[in-house]
Amino acid sequence: MSDRPILTTTAGAPVPDNQNSMTAGPRGGVMLQDYQLIEKLAHQNRERIPERAVHAKGWGAHGTLTITGDISKYTRAKCLQPGAVTPMLARFSTVAGELGAADHERDVRGFALKFYSPEGNWDLVGNNTPVFFVRDAYKFPDFIHTQKRHPRTNLRSATAMWDFWSLSPESLHQVTILMSDRGLPVDPTFMNGYGSHTYSLINEAGERFWVKFHFKTEQGHRHYTNAEAGQLIGQTREGYQEALFGKIEKGEYPRWKMQVQIMTEEEAEKTAYNPFDITKVWPHAEFPPIDVGVMELNRNPDNYFAEIEQAAFSPSNIVPGISYSPDKMLQARIFSYADAHRYRLGTHYENILVNQPKCPVHHYHRDGQMNTYGGLKTGNPDAYYEPNSFSGPFEDKSAAEPPLKIDGDMSRFDHREGNDDYVQVRALFNLFDDGQKARLFSNIAAAMGGVPGFIVERQLGHFDRVHPDYGNGVRAALKAAHGYEASAISTAAE
Ligand code: NDP
Repeated sequence: MSDRPILTTTAGAPVPDNQNSMTAGPRGGVMLQDYQLIEKLAHQNRERIPERAVHAKGWGAHGTLTITGDISKYTRAKCLQPGAVTPMLARFSTVAGELGAADHERDVRGFALKFYSPEGNWDLVGNNTPVFFVRDAYKFPDFIHTQKRHPRTNLRSATAMWDFWSLSPESLHQVTILMSDRGLPVDPTFMNGYGSHTYSLINEAGERFWVKFHFKTEQGHRHYTNAEAGQLIGQTREGYQEALFGKIEKGEYPRWKMQVQIMTEEEAEKTAYNPFDITKVWPHAEFPPIDVGVMELNRNPDNYFAEIEQAAFSPSNIVPGISYSPDKMLQARIFSYADAHRYRLGTHYENILVNQPKCPVHHYHRDGQMNTYGGLKTGNPDAYYEPNSFSGPFEDKSAAEPPLKIDGDMSRFDHREGNDDYVQVRALFNLFDDGQKARLFSNIAAAMGGVPGFIVERQLGHFDRVHPDYGNGVRAALKAAHGYEASAISTAAE
């Protein structure tokens, strides 16, 4: 008797023939009663779920977060206490390309983390950049449309991208990072991750601190030039998957140093910039990074679809001791990520194995499609509403946050006017050596091919305001790449 399992239908009945369709006779048509065949074909028709509207192409792995530092005076989150070891999942991604896109495209990389903490899942859904293109969610769908395909040509449109960016100077910081060396990492292990938004930490005493999260690569930064990436894409479109999966299979586990920057509520009232504006960083000299721990990826998924394609990260997932901030983009993402998962995975997406918390879960949500957890999550069938007298789960007031101070002069947190979109970009530009600057200019010129002159000129005005060398460097690169003769300096540098 063989040890091989018997092939069954999804209902568990043995399949007698998995090679030949059932016919009424040797020359007859296939019988409608060949249910096993119908089930097989029907399943194939349903193998695809909607791909993510953004961050469709991704690569991921499991690992651990180990806390080696001590930030207990800022947070009571159990997963951030000294010595804590928390299982976690990471998914990296490109933003614009579809599921079949080539991995080595110049793009921002998603850096999404799910920490299975003993107090619930904490998701930090960031990027490999510390800032973002827009500071208000009103602009997000339009921005993404400029990165995706033109409705008529079905091609990506450089005109749309630079038109939007040049009309949205808050994008300059992120555009500069994207066009710099860091816009094209060799593979996901050679890039930093940033929570990007400002979040909050809350300690045992109920005090709130604003926080930025950073994950610094221990593999070092390595990047490809556009030319190197172009050659590679001709050989493989899956370079990131090959690298990440291959390294972990070989036991070469990538690691990142976790750091935080901390700002008190009082300090947040005095910064020269809005600390809740995602187009800004907190300068390290003012808010020095504090070492917290180490993240290591050490286990490949056994099933890509189940564990990476169905992984549902959402900034709404916080735990006691870690919370949100008034960052307008963060506030919008708290809604839109969970909403996207309900759409593409279903109402009960948190019950998919990879998304399940590793702590007890109790709630009163009922029924719905794919309710696979066997009824209520309350522990008692009579406790199906709340409040109740039947020992059903009830709220934990100790998880409440301290009230947010909203008095005083809040006008500088209003982004409608008075923002500076240039000073921090200048600080970044000044970090680049001559080689980095030259590659920045030529990457921008390459990305501007075919863009109408009036849009190019508008964007050059922004580069000039960062630094005259920036605008002039791009002018020279445009001439070299496309023979484009830009007008002389269009906007005086500050
Ligand atoms: P610092 O010199 O103290 O820090 C510079 C930071 O820039 C480091 O985190 C470094 O990352 C990062 N960096 C270096 N080269 C690049 C690049 N090509 N693209 C993106 N990031 C890069 O300066 P400040 O804190 O005063 O910041 C100066 C500028 O650096 C900012 O305006 C911002 O553009 C950029 N930056 C700042 C960060 C922050 O949180 N303060 C974070 C990331 C960038 P690493 O240590 O890994 O090399």
